[in-house]
Amino acid sequence: MTVTSETQAPTNPLYVSGQWTPSAADEALDVFNPATGQVISRTPLARPDEVDAAVAAAKAAFPSWRRVPPPERARYLFRYRDLLVKHSDEIARIASREHGKTVADAKGSLQRGIEVVEFACGIPTLMMGECLEDVAAGIDTRSIRQPLGVCLGVTPFNFPVMIPLWMFPLALACGNTFVLKPSEKVPQSSIRLVELLHDTGIPEGVLNVVHGAAAQVEQLIDHPDVRVISIVGSSEAAAAVYARAAARGKRVQALGGAKNHLVVMPDADLDMATEAIIQSAYGSTGQRCMAGSVVDAVGSVGDELVERIRARAAALRLGPGDDEATEMGPLVNRAQRDRAASYIDLGVEEGAKVVLDGRSELERDGFFLGPTLLDEVKPGSRVSRDEIFGPVLSVIRPKDLDEALELVNASPKGNGAVIFSRDAGAIRRFCMEVEAGMVGVNVGVPAPMAFFPFAGWKGSFFGDLHATGKDGVRFYTESKVITSRV
Ligand code: NAD
Repeated sequence: MTVTSETQAPTNPLYVSGQWTPSAADEALDVFNPATGQVISRTPLARPDEVDAAVAAAKAAFPSWRRVPPPERARYLFRYRDLLVKHSDEIARIASREHGKTVADAKGSLQRGIEVVEFACGIPTLMMGECLEDVAAGIDTRSIRQPLGVCLGVTPFNFPVMIPLWMFPLALACGNTFVLKPSEKVPQSSIRLVELLHDTGIPEGVLNVVHGAAAQVEQLIDHPDVRVISIVGSSEAAAAVYARAAARGKRVQALGGAKNHLVVMPDADLDMATEAIIQSAYGSTGQRCMAGSVVDAVGSVGDELVERIRARAAALRLGPGDDEATEMGPLVNRAQRDRAASYIDLGVEEGAKVVLDGRSELERDGFFLGPTLLDEVKPGSRVSRDEIFGPVLSVIRPKDLDEALELVNASPKGNGAVIFSRDAGAIRRFCMEVEAGMVGVNVGVPAPMAFFPFAGWKGSFFGDLHATGKDGVRFYTESKVITSRV
């Protein structure tokens, strides 16, 4: 993937001790505008000494940052929240330009990220411990929560703004310092987020940015001064990071990939279900960890549902993310696009029927693939199991809810699962028995909310404490129990 590009596109700087500095790295990766295919910036693969300098800066900032009183730490975040709101159009445009998603979609996910900052502003209450007097005669016990030290955040390309905001605002609110390793495919969104945090006047070294790919992450995990690791990425990367970090005794949360099923019962409101499925499967061009990837059309609902999805998907307007008329943008790069398209032939080999073929869009400039619909996909086939991460939706036809639950629960992943139905009994049973952490009832995307944990299961999550919500506060703090006779 390393490209020695002919381009004049700027190489993205590192951010260490409050200063933006060019990397001296020899190698850099191209970052594209996926709507045109043009190179718009380059991600340096930071040198080992640059990685060490970022950790050293975070380590040096920790002793004084942890002593900044929590209400004062929260005040930086109140200011940060206002700056994010003020610059939301600009941030969404940067994300759209390097990711390809529509500006409206980018703004929506920025809002989800801003809500994490708002949640983190409540840190004086969230970090409170507990106290019990007279655990024995004249002896009281209290628990407190303390920051851990230097935290590392490793982020994926598909939410260039929201996922960095899941991590560093809460970690900093808890009194930790941070090294962010943004996705090499969308680095400029993170850079803008960090510039705005800088503008709050936050002390130098509290947050640092290192660019790179797996090798830089591995060096960071191995670094003795890095205590805590959060990664969001493919299941392969999440599993590798989890194993490496755990073997070194680090605290780690590793959020992985997905293969989300949308179960449609025969009694579902099909107008509502169709629209929700379209948004879930083709929104952000299928590049969401909560994207619907398999529709389980139960019993008699199949033929009508497939026809409705086909008709609506065929009418989706493709185009660049900054065109207001666009409903679906390109994929992030050529490799992702070609990989997603390859699943169409694979589906046919495995016995599926192509109802809508997005490959008619491959001739456009940029990395476009049109909405694709595969029917009669075979349970257990690769198309039904692999995360495609593109606009390729599979339909399976279970005969009843029992069979649908069996199909959903056979997935090695367990990020999200959705049911469309008006039957309270079916809904209750689905919620109880489905093996997924984020469950939707008559909603296409059970979106993560800042004040709840993002609760992936099975191969979609490795660790104990999830991101955001109260889990996030517990993840970024250590508890201490003090017993006193006074
Ligand atoms: P990716 O796994 O290629 O990269 C994610 C990050 O991990 C990047 O910063 C990358 O540099 C780093 N990385 C990659 N391989 C690594 C390795 N072996 N060791 C250490 N670091 C490594 O993922 P991507 O293509 O950028 O993002 C899409 C994936 O992320 C999809 O699988 C999607 O489902 C998943 N995702 C999951 C969630 C969730 O909440 N579970 C949210 C968003 C995205």
